[in-house]
Amino acid sequence: MIQTIRGFRDILPEDTPLWQAIESCASKLFENFGFKEIRIPIMEKTELFARSIGETTDIVEKEMYTFPDRKGDKLTLRPEATASVVRAFIQHSMGASDSVQKLYTIGPMFRRERPQKGRYRQFYQINAEVFGIASPYIDAQLILILNELFKRLGLSELEAHINSLGCKECRPNFQKELLTFLQDKKEQLCENCLRRMDKNPLRTLDCKVPDCREALKDAPSTLNHLCSGCQDHFETVKSVLTEQGVDFIVDKTLVRGLDYYSKTTFEILTTALGAQSAVAGGGRYDALIKELGGDETYGIGFAIGLDRLAEIVAQMINSNAQEDAKAQTSKAHFLELMHSNSPDIFIIPLGDKAIRLAYMWTSALNIAGIKTETDYSGRSLKSLMKRADKLNAQYVLIAGDKEIEDNALVLRNMGTKEQYFVTTDNPVEQVETLLNRV
Ligand code: AMP
Repeated sequence: MIQTIRGFRDILPEDTPLWQAIESCASKLFENFGFKEIRIPIMEKTELFARSIGETTDIVEKEMYTFPDRKGDKLTLRPEATASVVRAFIQHSMGASDSVQKLYTIGPMFRRERPQKGRYRQFYQINAEVFGIASPYIDAQLILILNELFKRLGLSELEAHINSLGCKECRPNFQKELLTFLQDKKEQLCENCLRRMDKNPLRTLDCKVPDCREALKDAPSTLNHLCSGCQDHFETVKSVLTEQGVDFIVDKTLVRGLDYYSKTTFEILTTALGAQSAVAGGGRYDALIKELGGDETYGIGFAIGLDRLAEIVAQMINSNAQEDAKAQTSKAHFLELMHSNSPDIFIIPLGDKAIRLAYMWTSALNIAGIKTETDYSGRSLKSLMKRADKLNAQYVLIAGDKEIEDNALVLRNMGTKEQYFVTTDNPVEQVETLLNRV
């Protein structure tokens, strides 16, 4: 039997209602904040990612799915969305029609990482990007939006970590000091850190190897080297978040795995999946648009890991923990969304003539917006009642030869067991009236 590739998986119909609910919650919230959806290709020229994400990052060094197409062009399955959204922004001169652009996109990303719980080789992200705003208010607003989204999804126990990486004015000084510090610690650093030290010393700060963490615990922090512009920017982000009641932790190790960040970076962390992991991350990238060939334009964005988010929301729904009223409401809301795919009506046809009519009525009811299912197998009333139960149908409509002959079909509410009669001439209108849909 042919199976999925390692690290790739199917999201099955029992899980998609949850994914759809999360996606629609996110897109509604983003649209309230003025974001518009953009859809971008899943494959781009390799150069786009190599130039934006950075040659010395894990992603570009070893995780990209890159291959030549039949003409030898080097192509890559996108490992993240920001580079493509920036490419689209430049390619379509989007800044010319409106210098401020707020965009979001939802879709799969590909990284050849070691698969484990919450880590896949094809995973999904919800991305939001803002172009053309220098103000720190937008940095704070993006963190606020993440906070609000997680609140709406009924999640607590998340931690927002924030940091500032400085800009091209203040970062070189910091890098010099960091490099001096790293030279002294060379013996204790892993091979990866040693290799990256000269090209991109910042990356050593978030190395997960325990010996490196120990060696770097007193490493200099970008926060002590910010120029006054970056300092003011970061202070405003923090004070605005505090005023809006968004909790955060300043985390000097938060440098993120991509090279293009400057000033504010942030991650939302959770322990819900075992070891602490990020459900979302982002930051400012004021130099990236120019770097990719556009005009100098401010940029900032974030990516939410949809696989991890769905897992945490599912855990929340299935947990029996004591909950406050708010958590109960979000749970009920999700359960409702997840059951919204059950049919309103299951038509039980008994006899050949009835099957033809059941087919006709099912089609007409579905077109009228009433979710209806039927069965063409000619099975018995008992076995079809079982099937209606299994599908969680709200009503059954029983259409046996006798009911058709008497011109009185039985519509039964599966919950209350109440029964109504429906004639055969215009069942759609009658059912609509009975279901209070008109
Ligand atoms: P990044 O672009 O690496 O900052 O990732 C943003 C978010 O995407 C992370 O916080 C994760 O939630 C999610 N993510 C990244 N890589 C993976 C992966 N391999 N599998 C599942 N989720 C991922």
